[in-house]
Amino acid sequence: MIKEITAKTILNHVKQPDPWFGLKYNMNLFRGCQHQCIYCDSRSDCYQIEDFSEIQVKINALDLLDDVLPRKKVRGTIGFGSMNDPYMPVEQEYRLTGKALEIISKNKFPVHILTKSDLVLRDIGLLKNISRVYAAVSFTITTADDELARKLETGAPLPSARFRAMLKLAEAGILTGVTMMPILPFLEDSEQNIYQIISRAQNSGATYIIPSFGVSLRPGSRDYYYQKLDQLFPGIKEKYINHYGDQYQCTVPGWRELNKVFQEEINRAGITARIPVFKPENRTGNTKQMPLFE
Ligand code: SF4
Repeated sequence: MIKEITAKTILNHVKQPDPWFGLKYNMNLFRGCQHQCIYCDSRSDCYQIEDFSEIQVKINALDLLDDVLPRKKVRGTIGFGSMNDPYMPVEQEYRLTGKALEIISKNKFPVHILTKSDLVLRDIGLLKNISRVYAAVSFTITTADDELARKLETGAPLPSARFRAMLKLAEAGILTGVTMMPILPFLEDSEQNIYQIISRAQNSGATYIIPSFGVSLRPGSRDYYYQKLDQLFPGIKEKYINHYGDQYQCTVPGWRELNKVFQEEINRAGITARIPVFKPENRTGNTKQMPLFE
């Protein structure tokens, strides 16, 4: 179900220094997410989203952004995609993300987009403009296996579509890479999965892959995840319960070895584990040489 709502504010300050993406601000144009990943942290009770499958569209978001952005004194990176995907299917109809990028482009702010959708390609021209200041597009990819992703990330475009979109962005000179998070214990924590993600990211022009070997679970998100594990992967829930109990951070068993494999492989591939973040004096584009063939 889709519901239009009116928001009071749209651009939030990121209070703690953001170690991953260097964000100064973040923005959620929607509430709820149509991608319906079974492990999604945004379902946690602490966020007080009663029905995560109800999509709320902040219809006054663009007016708010147009008003507030020119008055911001600090030009820092604006992040899209912390609580939902800015390119979920409803964006086709509303084009809130695309129009917000127009406002950002006009005001010359840097931007970081986190998505699982190739719909981002619709805005490639805008992103190219913004990348004169700074633009980065990170695709969340937790498995290279489309069939597994179909079960885990029910409503999202498949990883193969994300890799193809990544290549197009890289070819357009836009900084792009992978957020390989979460790597789900007992489902995605094989060396083979890590090798495949790195290899396909390399062939798709990724500059960086940011890993997280584990998943965070808390009241709300844990209940939903366990219910889905029972339906889709019988026996795996019991492994989580035995291994982690009620722990928030569920780190992959043997993550050190897996991380070693990851580090060796990205070094070989010429990929970094950190995203080059915006610095006012350092205007970035994608510096990767594109392969001739995928
Ligand atoms: S795309 Fe992100 S926000 Fe949307 S359901 Fe998946 S994990 Fe949650």
